[in-house]
Amino acid sequence: MTGPRKLYIKSYGCQMNVYDSLRMADMLAPDGFAETKDVAEADLVVLNTCHIREKAAEKVYSEIGRLRVLKDEAAKDGRKVTIAVAGCVAQAEGAEIMRRAPVVDLVVGPQSYHRLPALLDQAARGERPVETEFPAEDKFNFLKNPTRDAIRARGVSAFLTIQEGCDKFCTFCVVPYTRGAEVSRPVEKILAEAERLAAAGVREITAIGQNVNAYHGDGPDGTTWTLARLFERLAQIPGIDRLRYTTSHPRDVDDSLVAVHRDLPELMPQLHLPVQSGSDRILDAMNRKHTRDDYLRVIERLRKAQPALAFTSDFIVGFPGETDRDFTDTLKLIEEVGFCGAFSFKYSPRPGTPAADMDDQVPEHVMTERLHELQLLIDRQMAAFNKACVGKTLDVLFEKTGRHPGQIAGKSPYLQPVQVMAPASLIGTIASVRIDDTGSYSLFGTLADEVGNRVPERPNLAALEA
Ligand code: SAM
Ligand code: SF4
Repeated sequence: MTGPRKLYIKSYGCQMNVYDSLRMADMLAPDGFAETKDVAEADLVVLNTCHIREKAAEKVYSEIGRLRVLKDEAAKDGRKVTIAVAGCVAQAEGAEIMRRAPVVDLVVGPQSYHRLPALLDQAARGERPVETEFPAEDKFNFLKNPTRDAIRARGVSAFLTIQEGCDKFCTFCVVPYTRGAEVSRPVEKILAEAERLAAAGVREITAIGQNVNAYHGDGPDGTTWTLARLFERLAQIPGIDRLRYTTSHPRDVDDSLVAVHRDLPELMPQLHLPVQSGSDRILDAMNRKHTRDDYLRVIERLRKAQPALAFTSDFIVGFPGETDRDFTDTLKLIEEVGFCGAFSFKYSPRPGTPAADMDDQVPEHVMTERLHELQLLIDRQMAAFNKACVGKTLDVLFEKTGRHPGQIAGKSPYLQPVQVMAPASLIGTIASVRIDDTGSYSLFGTLADEVGNRVPERPNLAALEA
């Protein structure tokens, strides 16, 4: 395929989808596709979908409805718009999408998007391919590398998939079915990708995977590397000043991971560690394979090693059979840990998962009330955490211009957005910022005397909380 064509990709759901969308754009760039932010001018629209909750999946069909109008309008002007559905809805529903939405030209699952150019050729011939097998080949071996300009355009903080899939089979979750078995990418492939990112100006890498701390990749020395060992090596790459990882599972926090939180200044002191519930009864029914105490012990080990660590989590309210007492246990756990933020969701039955067939589904209005109460508590904890930062100096990685003229915006070590009046030339650098005030979600600060590219100073959370 040749010629300048416009590609519009819409990403739903998790960071893995954000990453996959970029890789799809990279895959299509050599075929002459340039990305556009304006769907109206697109020749190819890719919806990179999420199946994790019912609402997420429904959104795709509403979007397809809007695209049908767009496609018809373009056809009147003699222009053909191709519509591809990718991601986890594609994987879960496959041919059903083709049946429900005749406007869709092709369907491709998350393990097969390296085949997009070939599938587009098929679509151009009038076929409607559905590619949802888990192919024997590893897609990463076929993906095209992004150009330096593409990396630069995406900013100084990048996601890097190091692990995919999940073998844990929590009873509520579709991931093991849509993303497949847990696989770790080899160390050398990850390092090559990280070095390319760093060479193009990336300063912060977030290692991503559905179960990222279960990472066990083949190392260049013939041994299996843990996530901790991978981080020690990634931290040596010149230009990489910050490392993060998401999403982790409490069961896979081993001693080496705890140790790098203590010893590796590049590893940021914020950790997303989903717990889902504070009730042992519910954790058991969820097949989480950890208890409330196990979770608290993991937090304790991490805090002992690194007092500056702040935690975020995921919660599900209204899992089948959840009583008021179970929910109260969740609130108590939140009080006990003290989070700096969290994602919380009403339980959504997913077809094919064991929990969808469980008795005692919780009524919608009960879930709504519980979610509200939980979110109020988390909001209070987040506000207190942000307030405790006022008057402190935090290192900020500046990423872009801010909301107001003369302002630039970046992220603190705790992932808080920080707005500062400062020259745009600082974008891409790390500078010390004195925090003056907080908004609902952002912090506002002033550049401290020292501005540079040094590794981040580790703020002391115990001091912040004092
Ligand atoms: N691997 C991660 C873990 O073990 O916690 C999370 C992966 S999932 C993409 C992100 C979050 O979605 C989960 O932590 C959970 O809170 C939420 N989630 C997953 N399935 C759900 C469901 N059926 N209903 C509501 N929330 C769900
Ligand atoms: Fe889903 Fe559980 Fe695997 Fe996380 S650990 S991806 S919640 S099955």
